[in-house]
Parts: sequence; structure tokens; C-alpha cells
Amino acid sequence: MRISSRVHMVGSGRHGLQTTHMIDCNVYLLDGGSECALIDAGGGVEPERIEANIAAAGVAPERITKLLLTHAHGDHAGGARHFRDRYGAELIVSEEAAPWLESGDMEKNSLLAAIAAGIYPDDYRFRACPVARAVKEGDVVRVGDIELAVLETPGHARGHVSYLWDGEDGKAIFAGDVLFAGGRIVLQSTWDCSIQDYAATTAKLHALRLDTLYAGHGAPVMKEAYRHVERAHDCFRRLDLPPNL
Ligand SMILES: [Zn+2]
Repeated sequence: MRISSRVHMVGSGRHGLQTTHMIDCNVYLLDGGSECALIDAGGGVEPERIEANIAAAGVAPERITKLLLTHAHGDHAGGARHFRDRYGAELIVSEEAAPWLESGDMEKNSLLAAIAAGIYPDDYRFRACPVARAVKEGDVVRVGDIELAVLETPGHARGHVSYLWDGEDGKAIFAGDVLFAGGRIVLQSTWDCSIQDYAATTAKLHALRLDTLYAGHGAPVMKEAYRHVERAHDCFRRLDLPPNL
């Protein structure tokens, strides 16, 4: 499903359009012209439903050369191994999360806690995946003629990065689980979640005055995204918490 001139939504689960498996986050396909990238990989259960959406978008699999992850949680990273093998795509993830991907560490990506909480089926397993490039704040990832700047955005998860695209339609961000439409967030009682980091990350995004928010769940915000960021930022500033997704 095309949602802007260069972006398709090819995966979306429980909190979103439910066009693919329930546990999938929103999976975006960014078209950089000479090459394309997937942003986040979904949960890895029935990834062929995401492939069908990629085909329906008219994108040939061999054009997908990069797979960018925002963080290592199962609903975003569980499909990484599948797409990396299937498309031969370069897996790009934060320096902090890279070893967890490579070893398939279900403690570090809070999957054991999430399975115990009933968010994932008991038999859900995370497939380890080799990382081609580990990124940090200020790095640039090129996808064809598009440049994405890496922002470290912890709070929801350790090792969480977002990808900022200052392009033809203004400032857009692929924000994973940092912020959602309406200024919602996802705070969980897992080791990798931090309220103080979350507040600092929200202040950082607020300062950017974003136009477009490609959120990891639910609806993307295509205009005046800064208004949504501001709602969350105002809550943190009052030492209150924004509503959870
Ligand atoms: Zn997450």
C-alpha cells in the first residue's frame, strides 16, 4: 500500500491495518530509485504475507538491498533472518543491539518477558541473524538517492534508533516504537525500558519539528507530526506520562 511518493506500507499487524500477521509491526518499504530498503522486518511468522504486499507494490525483490531495524524486539526484528536470506539484504541495526541480533539473545530483546506475558505464543523463537552494519548517532545510511540520518532514540528499548529523512516532503522519521499518533508511547516493565531516556528522546524529536511520522504501529502521521510529538513532550515536561498505545 503506497502511503507517500517513496514509501509503501507492506506489513502491519494487531495495532494497525492487520494486512499481515498479528504480531507484525508496521513494515515500511522505502524506494530510493536504484535500490529499496525495508524498515523493520515484522515478527517472522508468515513473512510471505509481507512478500505478497511487496509484490503488489510492484517492487522486484532484487531491488531490496537493505534491511534497517529500529530495535531488536521480536515484532520488529523477528523477520530479519528471513528477509536477509531471501533478498540478500544488508542488515543494519544499532551498535548496541547488533550483538543481540547476531546471537539471537531473547533475554536482551525482552522476548522471554514478552512470551511470559502472553504477548507472543509460547513456542515463539527468535532467529539469530548476521549484521552487515552497526550504526550510531550521526551515521548516514544511503538508500539509492535518499539519505537517512541515524538518531539514537532509547526509552522504549535499549539500542533503539530512528531514521530521519530530510527530503522532498519535509522532515520524516521512521520511529519504530518511540512515538505513535496522538502522542502515545509504549512503556513496559522490561529491563530495556527507561522513563528518563524516553523523556529525553521525546524532547530530541520535539526539537526537530517533524512533518511526517512513520510509526512502528498504528497509523502513520503524514502532516504536522510535530503536534503529536508535542503532546507526548508536554506530558513528560509536567513529570507526567503520555498515554500508552
Ligand atoms: Zn518494541
